[in-house]
Amino acid sequence: MSRIAVIPGDGIGPEVTNEALRVLDVVSEQDSIPLDFEELPLGASNYLETGEVISDETMEVLDEKDAVLLGSLGDPRVKPGLLEKGILLRLRFHFDQYVNLRPVVLYEGVPSALSGEGRDIAMRFVRENTEDFYVGLGARVGKGASRSELVLKRKAYEAKFDIGIDLANEEELAYQIGVITRQGARRVLDYAFQLAKSKELDLVTSVDKANVLTDMYGLWREEVASASERHGIRSEFQYVDAVALHMIRNPGRFKILVTPNLFGDILTDLGAALQGGLGFAPSGNINPDGVSMFEPVHGSAPDIAGLGLANPVGAILSAALMLDTLGHGGAADRIEKAVQEVLREGRHRTPDVGGTTSTSKMGDAIVDGLRKTSC
Ligand code: ATP
Repeated sequence: MSRIAVIPGDGIGPEVTNEALRVLDVVSEQDSIPLDFEELPLGASNYLETGEVISDETMEVLDEKDAVLLGSLGDPRVKPGLLEKGILLRLRFHFDQYVNLRPVVLYEGVPSALSGEGRDIAMRFVRENTEDFYVGLGARVGKGASRSELVLKRKAYEAKFDIGIDLANEEELAYQIGVITRQGARRVLDYAFQLAKSKELDLVTSVDKANVLTDMYGLWREEVASASERHGIRSEFQYVDAVALHMIRNPGRFKILVTPNLFGDILTDLGAALQGGLGFAPSGNINPDGVSMFEPVHGSAPDIAGLGLANPVGAILSAALMLDTLGHGGAADRIEKAVQEVLREGRHRTPDVGGTTSTSKMGDAIVDGLRKTSC
């Protein structure tokens, strides 16, 4: 039995999550997959009522789960970032979800920023989710800072900071330090190479900027080379700028890309544009040995919340990603095939891609497609 916490959240979150749950109900029945759902009413309304973003009791409930399925968080009534940081980031940190998995697949029938030959798009980004420039190591040093403060700040990062800036006389400066640890790189790389093996792919593309940021990405490269050897799968090194170019010119050349945190953040949004927009993009925040969390890439989209206009495909594909991670790859594939077929056939399209199909009708079409398939 897989125990799943469901957090529909805010804005369009509840609408799209509802469709994902309907799809999960169908495959769980068809494939006899025991799934136990518990809905947790986290989000803006809960916060405004209780004054608490997430309680200790809720954290204890979550600790007992195998996975979390999330809709979206954010609400105009609440300070931007408060719910996202208080819930999303807290859970990512608490459960040490060090892999951000973002499949970028352009299905037939979906309009993309690219056309013609560029349509062969089926890549998976494995983004490191905890390190790099997101570790919060940085400071602003103003002109008013005392001499000793400047000396201390300088000492903190002096090892490689000899770039001819006279700290004492600068009006103000700011710095941010990126950190890659050997263990942090190794674990996400192991995940990427194992994923390649499970999908029968023989090449992993590593993204970095090792020609400029030589220390941190030099270490990253060493770990890529040893992971490649350990897993018996080829790897290639690409600079992030070249990857951005190839993603437009020849996206078909990439299958599995593994990237440090910052470059992954940027490239996966480019990926969302290539796959037809935010409504189509699923994601997983994964700890392969712990509790993972799955959510569509889009936010709460308050402009269309409650109107039945939201595209539920990203949420449905996130549910499929969850099943895959929980060991039900066959059911996950069937969901993806049902989505693929509905999009290919083209009768049902949500307004974000020029159609008139409502959120629930899109869900109906995918559920109907699934019911037609046998296990
Ligand atoms: P948040 O602050 O929670 O991130 P946001 O509105 O700033 O919300 P998104 O929700 O990610 O950012 O999306 C931006 C816009 O894209 C939305 O306002 C909406 O118009 C559109 N959009 C996002 N997701 C969907 C979807 N699933 N279906 C249709 N349109 C969507």
